Parts: sequence; C-alpha cells; structure tokens
Amino acid sequence: MYRLKNAGFQGLLVGGGVRDLLLGREPKDFDVATDATPEQIHELFRNCRLIGRRFRLAHIRFGREIIETATFRGSGDGGESDDHSLNDEGRVLRDNVYGTLEEDAWRRDFTINALYYNIADFSVIDYTNGMDDLRNGIIRLIGEPEQRYREDPVRMIRAVRFAAKLGFRIHEQADEALFELGHLLKQVAPARLFDEVMKLLMSGIGLQTFELLRHYDLFRYLFPMTDEALSHEEHDFPHILIARALSNTDARIADDKPVTPAFLYAALLWDPVRLRTEKIIKEEQLHVAPAMQRAVASVISEQAECTSIPRRFSLPMREIWGLQSRFRHRYGRRAKSLLAHPRFRAAYDFLLLRAEAGEEEQELADWWTHIQEVDDSERDKMLNSSQGSGRQRRRRSNPAKKRDTRKNHA
Ligand code: ATP
Ligand code: MG
Repeated sequence: MYRLKNAGFQGLLVGGGVRDLLLGREPKDFDVATDATPEQIHELFRNCRLIGRRFRLAHIRFGREIIETATFRGSGDGGESDDHSLNDEGRVLRDNVYGTLEEDAWRRDFTINALYYNIADFSVIDYTNGMDDLRNGIIRLIGEPEQRYREDPVRMIRAVRFAAKLGFRIHEQADEALFELGHLLKQVAPARLFDEVMKLLMSGIGLQTFELLRHYDLFRYLFPMTDEALSHEEHDFPHILIARALSNTDARIADDKPVTPAFLYAALLWDPVRLRTEKIIKEEQLHVAPAMQRAVASVISEQAECTSIPRRFSLPMREIWGLQSRFRHRYGRRAKSLLAHPRFRAAYDFLLLRAEAGEEEQELADWWTHIQEVDDSERDKMLNSSQGSGRQRRRRSNPAKKRDTRKNHA
C-alpha cells in the first residue's frame, strides 16, 4: 500500500482483511484495492503476476503471502437491465470496467466487505454503512438481494459462509431469497464452485457451514448425490459419517495439522459410491471390485458436473475407497501388504470414521489400530492367527441388527 502511495496511486486494504481486523480476528488473507491499472501494478512490483478469470487481478507475493491487488471496478451498469428475464440474463459475465473508489465499494457483495482502510490518514472509508452492520452482526447485501444473487449466485454461498464464520445473521430479504434461488448455482462453473467448496469446508468451521447450507437447502446444488443419500438416511447414516469427517477436519485445522480435501470428498461421496456399487452388483451380477470401480467412475464424473475434482484429489479418493474392502482380510500376505500401502494411513483413518459412524464393526477398526502398535513378532502372530481371519470372524459375528442394513457388502 505504501509503495502504491509513494508512486502516486491510492492503495487501500479492503474486504476480509479490514472486516476481520475490526472484529479482532486474524485475517486469512489481505486484499488491496487501487486506482493503478494491472499494468501499472505490474511495473511497480517485481514479485507480481497478473491473473484473470472473470476479473483481471494482480497477485503480489509478499513473503509467503499473496496479496490480491485489484483495480477499482466500476458498475459498467450492465447488471441493471433485463435482470428478471427467464434465463440467466442477470448474471455478470464480464466485469472489467475500471471505476472510482466509490463505484468499487458499491459493486462489492456485502456491506461488511466494502470497508476500506486508508493508510493516507488511517481512516476507514465506509460508503455502504458497513460499520453499522459490522457492529450489529448483520450480513447485508449491497443493493437488491435477489438481483445481486442473480448477478453472481456464488454470493449465496458466500452469505452462508460468512454467517457461519462470523456468527452473523443474514438480513431478512437476503435470507428469504436464499431459500428460493439455490437453483441459480447450477449455472456456476464447476471449477469456481470447487474453489468455493474448499473455502466452505476447509476453513475450520466446515461442520457448521455444512449444517447451514443444508438449512438453506443449498447443499444439494453442491453435492446432489450426497444430498440424495442424506434424504434417505437410516439410523443417522451417512449424516454421522459426514459430520465426523467435517469435525475431524475442523479439529485438525485448529491444531495446525495438514488436511486434504480428498479425505473429505471421500466421506461426502462414500454413500453414493456404496449404493451404486450395491445396485451394480444386483443388476449385473458383477463382483465387488469391478462393480465398485464402475460406481466410483460414475460418481466422480457426475460430481464433477457440479464441482470439479482435480485429479490430485480424485486419485487418492479412489484409493481410499478401493482399500476399504481389503480391511476385511486380516490374514497373511494380503493384510501385510495393506499395511505397507502408501495410502494405508488415509484409508485406515477412513475405516475409523466408518466404524465410528456404525457402518463398519468397531472391533475390525480396533484390530487394525492394534496391529500398528505391536512389535514385529506380535504383528506376524496376529497376521498368521486364524482368529484374525476375516472369513472366520464374519461367520461368528452377529452384527447389531440396526446396523445390518448399512453394512458394507464388501
Ligand atoms: P475471506 O478472505 O476471509 O474468506 P473475504 O471477504 O476477504 O473473506 P475474498 O474472497 O477474499 O473474501 O474477497 C475479497 C473481497 O472481494 C470481498 O470482501 C468482497 O468485497 C469482494 N468480493 C469477493 N467476491 C465477490 C463477489 N462474488 N461479488 C462481489 N464482491 C466480491
Ligand atoms: Mg480475502
């Protein structure tokens, strides 16, 4: 900001950085708004990259952080015409008209996100009455809510995200519209929705956000198959599995431990995979493994129509799922090689989750926990003991009736 100022430009902190600082929270990242054009920014900063999907923006590296630096944007007044036509005519497709600071404020999403911190006099510039809303804990769209949601449906999930994150309440009109306009999310590009889903579920308050998305019935536009599975839930499954996966992720984030979306996606899509596998087995008399492979392929490609899944996540997801049936074999070489599998850890964590959710026997999960704790000779004993054989156990076991229907066929 000072470098921009010294070069004769305005440079102001805006968005989440200002909002969170004013709330006494630690900002996740910083966004800067300026009257310098992207090209002028590029000349001023060596460590700068111009990017642009919908908007042309400068990413400036600052240590390990990236400061998103955007030129003031005008309204371009395109969004005001035809906003109620039948198709998605209200949607902003191109938004690269530069404008003044004030215009820049009015085209932002929520009043609490349109506060600017000005280093020229250390003041907060507030055109939209965002300070009042910040004090009162209100998420208010700038302008007419329905029109703003139509321009960019992602604002709906942003409203939910900030409501969960800040514990704020969504202002009436904007709140009501959320129940009605969810279908607009179908028009959003899957890659953009994937980014948003990451922010929703991997930000430390995933569980709360998930429940709130379900409350507004928006979740089904992000994960239609999962939503379908949740609507048929038996004995709280798969709800418990998903809730546990989310709260585990939240806990890991709180502890500064690494988290991967692959695990969460694996949990979210597990029930659709299971149900489809069962269906394929029944209808086509296929064995478990090939049936599951087919189910996995169809679930992943269907999900990708809503939120894309980069291959670096879909590959581990497939492995986590594929290894689940192998935990049933607690005998000999196959079991031993499972322990050495590069994806064993994630698959084992997933097994624990399934056991906690009542879909797999706790005893099986405990056995795999135990075998990792013992020394080599004890481990070999466990692997060679017929007690550990999955086949034997299954014959003897009399699984709790209520969970019987949810038992993994595999
Ligand atoms: P956080 O970074 O903590 O998640 P944020 O408010 O900074 O929250 P960003 O996605 O970083 O969110 O966006 C920065 C700012 O850009 C927002 O505060 C808002 O002013 C503006 N903005 C982002 N997305 C939109 C949108 N879809 N429509 C209008 N303005 C937006
Ligand atoms: Mg931000």
